[in-house]
Amino acid sequence: MGKKKFIYLFNEGNAGMKDLLGGKGANLAEMTNLGIPVPQGFTVSTEACTQYYEDGKTLNDEILNQINEALEDLENKTNKKFGSHENPLLVSVRSGARASMPGMMDTILNLGLNDETVEVVAKLTNNHRFAFDSYRRFIQMFSDVVMNLDKRRFEDILDEVKNNKGVKFDTDLTAADLRELVEKYKELYLKELGNEFPQDPKTQLIESVTAVFRSWNNSRAIVYRRLNDIPSSWGTAVNVQSMVFGNMGNTSGTGVAFTRDPATGEKVIFGEYLINAQGEDVVAGIRTPQPISRLKEDLPECFDQFMNIASNLEKHYKDMQDMEFTIEQGKLYFLQTRNGKRTAQAGLKIAVEMVEEGLITKEEAVLKVDPKQLDSLLHPNFDQKKLDQAKVIAKGLPASPGAACGKVYFTAEDAKIHNAQGEKVILVRLETSPEDIEGMVAAEGILTVRGGMTSHAAVVARGMGTCCVAGCGDIKVNESKKIFEVSDKVFHEGDYISLDGSTGNVYGEAIKTVEPEISGYFGIYMSWADDIRSLKVRTNADTPRDALQAVKFGAEGIGLCRTEHMFFDEERIPVVREMILSESEEQRRKALDKLLPMQKKDFIGIYEAMEDRPVTIRFLDPPLHEFLPSEDEDIRDLAEELGVSFEHLKGNIESLHEFNPMMGHRGCRLTVSYPEIAEMQTRAIIEAAIEVTRKNGFKIVPEIMIPLVGEVKELKYVKDVVVRVADEIIAKEGIDMKYLVGTMIEIPRAALTADQIATEAEFFSFGTNDLTQMTFGFSRDDAGKFLGDYYDKKIYDFDPFVKLDQDGVGKLVKMAVELGRKTRPDIKLGVCGEHGGDPSSVTFFHNAGIEYVSCSPFRVPVARLAAAQAQIRNKR
Ligand code: ADP
Ligand code: MG
Ligand code: MG
Repeated sequence: MGKKKFIYLFNEGNAGMKDLLGGKGANLAEMTNLGIPVPQGFTVSTEACTQYYEDGKTLNDEILNQINEALEDLENKTNKKFGSHENPLLVSVRSGARASMPGMMDTILNLGLNDETVEVVAKLTNNHRFAFDSYRRFIQMFSDVVMNLDKRRFEDILDEVKNNKGVKFDTDLTAADLRELVEKYKELYLKELGNEFPQDPKTQLIESVTAVFRSWNNSRAIVYRRLNDIPSSWGTAVNVQSMVFGNMGNTSGTGVAFTRDPATGEKVIFGEYLINAQGEDVVAGIRTPQPISRLKEDLPECFDQFMNIASNLEKHYKDMQDMEFTIEQGKLYFLQTRNGKRTAQAGLKIAVEMVEEGLITKEEAVLKVDPKQLDSLLHPNFDQKKLDQAKVIAKGLPASPGAACGKVYFTAEDAKIHNAQGEKVILVRLETSPEDIEGMVAAEGILTVRGGMTSHAAVVARGMGTCCVAGCGDIKVNESKKIFEVSDKVFHEGDYISLDGSTGNVYGEAIKTVEPEISGYFGIYMSWADDIRSLKVRTNADTPRDALQAVKFGAEGIGLCRTEHMFFDEERIPVVREMILSESEEQRRKALDKLLPMQKKDFIGIYEAMEDRPVTIRFLDPPLHEFLPSEDEDIRDLAEELGVSFEHLKGNIESLHEFNPMMGHRGCRLTVSYPEIAEMQTRAIIEAAIEVTRKNGFKIVPEIMIPLVGEVKELKYVKDVVVRVADEIIAKEGIDMKYLVGTMIEIPRAALTADQIATEAEFFSFGTNDLTQMTFGFSRDDAGKFLGDYYDKKIYDFDPFVKLDQDGVGKLVKMAVELGRKTRPDIKLGVCGEHGGDPSSVTFFHNAGIEYVSCSPFRVPVARLAAAQAQIRNKR
């Protein structure tokens, strides 16, 4: 057996090896191959990470040996050596998973420094200040990332020293100050951890690599993965790279840049840099960076070279690039490039313009935008009139566009709690860090005091499509008192503000918002997606209003119209109760007669909204207890209406109590007991369809869907009722109208016997919510309470109600598709569960041969794009 290769030198990899090298490693290799100046190094592969976990969280000898070999190679290439007293090698240790996870995994810089090498570096560079500045940074990062000693402890010491010296910026500290700082840092390390700060560079390195692997499973990473569909099995790679220094004086610096504006998509270089600074300084927002255009004045040659490489990288990757660079004494190095995160607006503009520029094809363009991101375009914007009247109380950077209005909270925890209680919240922070991620998810908008357009808050917010105003120095936040002040006014926790992420304006009041529209680049882009896809997209809508909204978003029909939602109306509920509590068929028919005109009117509205598009109407499927009165007062009223005594009715209601209503007397079971309900609903549907056909000339083919079927005979029983009533009406009206009777596949037994079911059903619609619940055997209403433990313990990576469980539930879907088609080759197959709006599930349905998915109106564009992407990827 040959030895497994765990380590790849940068010149051994390429951009196609992301699975193995992670995104960062693969691109460092690619840039190396392209001849771009990249400090050399090597990548410890994701397979080493997996191996580390398999070996009980240890690095085995093979991996350690290979690290040593690669290190030797790096020492030879750079002519430097770990721990050397002549020319010490210093490296960075950088994590990098397949998909970029900004800020999730931490980087360690300047590794290799110790009490001796720091003096060597000081002499070699003739710059003591620089050497000790680098060392103090290293101690802090190592302690924080590897030893879990909070970096704030170090920052406190830094602030204290700065205070004592009476200086404002780190850069104002002298070499002697920094030397003193290093001593203090080492003291803290010893005091808190019980050991001296490790002096051996190899130990430092191995500890750091291990820490990166370990961090793959920290709680922030787990949350981020769940939100972004990244399986835990992927693992992360680690890059070990020789250091270059942006903190060597005024011809050195470091920065980040995008080849196009990530907020608007405009084709201009967009970035920020800091002179005399290292890595994290720009992102952390500690000093306010300069716009990249200033580099042209400061270091014109570097600027030209930078612009040239940036433009080549964009052409090479055929995508907008997000780059990190460092200039060491006038020499430019690239440290990272990746396809940049961008807002949905920017993504659409860039994709469309790149097609126009001839850089990419329409198909490539359609693959460029993450369908989930479209969501942010479908949400409201400010009502311009109201906006014009509102007063701007502060202005920050327009870091992530959109409109947000909500109550301010000052911690991620508070934001999360209040959002869970149904409040719209705005998270206000000095700056955000990865610990804040859950609060950022909960927030409508994010407002930070510090940090630029590439700060953590800005990058993460753009990725999530959440509105963000960053670097708003106008406001004074006191996080511990939970207030912020702006021009003499104090805002407390719970006060309303509004943010405009496109202008950076902050308003001290709630501002009304308006609905969005699909137009411009969005419209062009979606039309390309529509041309490509074969999977149709319908919507789940119960009212004409929702139906019209969905049509605007491109819905091609209704896949699920739930009739019980129409029953909840205040006027109707007494009639519905009357129907449920009837004690004889006669009484029930009386109630149903009252409901008939109401239902018919609903269906007319739906048919008119949908015109010629197909509409699937599902028969009544509520757990009945949801409709029953529980208050004595309501029961008394109802008793009067029904002409029975209070006690009698109360007893009746109690007898209808079910232990497990989700698995109780619902769906088609109800019509098996009371076929007159199916009669009424059939009548309402068919009569409505006839009326609209006659009035508007549409060609309507009603699709009647019978829920909760698990046995072909129960379907046949209900279907016979439908056919009898429908045929009678159609004959009497003398109209030529076709209709379809089909069923939901939402009980495992229906999937297992789909060949039998298909003898009666003319279409299947997979109700994947119930199918998931019934297949797993846990209730979707209760699962939230314990799924958290399952994520923590790595039993599940995802919520199966959000993302289809392809192994189990998916297998049932595939089986039913096959069995159904065997019996009835032209059977119509759709999906009406919430999964129909989840991109990865949509891909699965496309591949399984489903004809359409149906999802809530706001997810229709998401599904359209996901369907097009599935089409393109599947063809390859
Ligand atoms: P992240 O994935 O969080 O961006 P990175 O691994 O890219 O983390 O590193 C964080 C910062 O450190 C970046 O600004 C990067 O440019 C800088 N950095 C990383 N490696 C080196 C190096 N070898 N020399 C100089 N700066 C580096
Ligand atoms: Mg980076
Ligand atoms: Mg159901």
